[in-house]
Amino acid sequence: MAKKPASNVRVQSRFTPIDPPKPVGDSSDGGELNFFEVHLEQLHRAMEANGTVPKVRLVLSEPKNEIIVNFPAMMDSGEYRLFTGYRIQHNNILGPYKGGIRYSEHVTREEVKALSALMTYKCALMQIPFGGAKGGVRCNPRVLSRNEVERITRRFTHDLGSNIGPEYDIPAPDMGTNAQTMVWMMDTYMNGQDITKKNAVRGVVTGKSLTAGGSVGREKATGQGVVFALDEWADENNFSLDGARFTVQGFGNVGSHAARILSKAGGILVGVSDHTGSICDENIDPEELAAYVAANGGVAGYAKAASCTRDDFFGLACDVFIPAALEFQIGAHEAKLLRCRVIVEGANGPTTPAGDVVLESRGITVLPDIFANGGGVVVSYFEWVQNRRSESWDLKEVDTRLRAKIQDAYARMRAKATALAVPNRIAALACALDRLQASYAERGIFP
Ligand code: NAD
Repeated sequence: MAKKPASNVRVQSRFTPIDPPKPVGDSSDGGELNFFEVHLEQLHRAMEANGTVPKVRLVLSEPKNEIIVNFPAMMDSGEYRLFTGYRIQHNNILGPYKGGIRYSEHVTREEVKALSALMTYKCALMQIPFGGAKGGVRCNPRVLSRNEVERITRRFTHDLGSNIGPEYDIPAPDMGTNAQTMVWMMDTYMNGQDITKKNAVRGVVTGKSLTAGGSVGREKATGQGVVFALDEWADENNFSLDGARFTVQGFGNVGSHAARILSKAGGILVGVSDHTGSICDENIDPEELAAYVAANGGVAGYAKAASCTRDDFFGLACDVFIPAALEFQIGAHEAKLLRCRVIVEGANGPTTPAGDVVLESRGITVLPDIFANGGGVVVSYFEWVQNRRSESWDLKEVDTRLRAKIQDAYARMRAKATALAVPNRIAALACALDRLQASYAERGIFP
């Protein structure tokens, strides 16, 4: 079927001239920062260091398509509310657009733009054949019923129409969404297809439940990737994860799985913080805490650990800190409080530029988001491949392939950091730019 934007969808094309990124203010909490501009500044550094040519700089300076839909959904009360949904498709030179869908009351166009760009570089760095995209609906899933979330999801998917598809743009879960959300998206998309094609489009989303065609190991994949990434750093630095003390901000999909997997490798969880509060203790059981969070919506009130302030949490003595919540959580203030050796960015964009400066001056290593949380999209790719081939891999195969991808990306990122004398964040972007630039060099820019 020809790809045609649905009639009620606004699609903008790019090729606006590149502007030099605006300087970013020094902010400890990130409240004043524009996520997309911060990203452009980091990209600019990587492009300068890597010698990226002007035409590639131009193409990558804005997303290719920005789709914004305002759509009604019925609340349980019978009233209708209007929601704003975004799907921003940054780049597809390396393959179909790929990236998560976020449900949060804080979703903005600029945030989704930045996240879509990070996906382009993440997929390029991890060497999987996808481009970058991201989506979101401005809503607070915590105050919506399951039925309301289902109606929002189905109507959003319907309104995206043929702007998504298994060979074109493939959503996945992100903050506030999960396997159930993806199953509703898949089912809605399938039901818009010719009856003979329904099963051929299962790969329109990844991160589905196993019964809907998801992959084993996908639910934990981002957290698993965080631990594999940390393992690479530990090997390089002769550091043992057995007995390593760690803290986690955000105890949702990424944070809770990373904590559970790291504690199985001998790590000791000493602090957790989320939107409800912060807790600390000498040995928090992540399995028990995950069950508590599932039942109570957050870490606040967990009786087996003491509650503490956010600053106390950031100041806990540990070896490893895993941010797995929102962007801009580590500003200059938090970076001064941290007492860890390494930060593994499970979240996207958790460190502000001012935070990065402080961390660098204090010798705290950062394993940056596009590398450290790339496990999610890598296993999404495995799910997509399995759907195409009607295969079903076992967990050992998924984890073995994932580890190999992360080992390979780590080696390339570290070699680039050394060659260009830049921090890992810039090196990871530079590795991604190599791949994108090679593709543009071969194919040129149409026409
Ligand atoms: P989630 O919705 O499962 O969990 C989000 C967590 O963040 C919750 O514990 C919540 O309490 C916490 N949080 C929200 N607001 C907070 C605040 N103001 N202060 C402290 N904590 C707060 O989301 P997730 O899927 O685990 O995603 C977390 C991060 O990881 C996001 O940045 C997301 O983009 C990134 N990420 C997710 C995946 C994935 O596969 N799910 C993949 C790559 C990156």
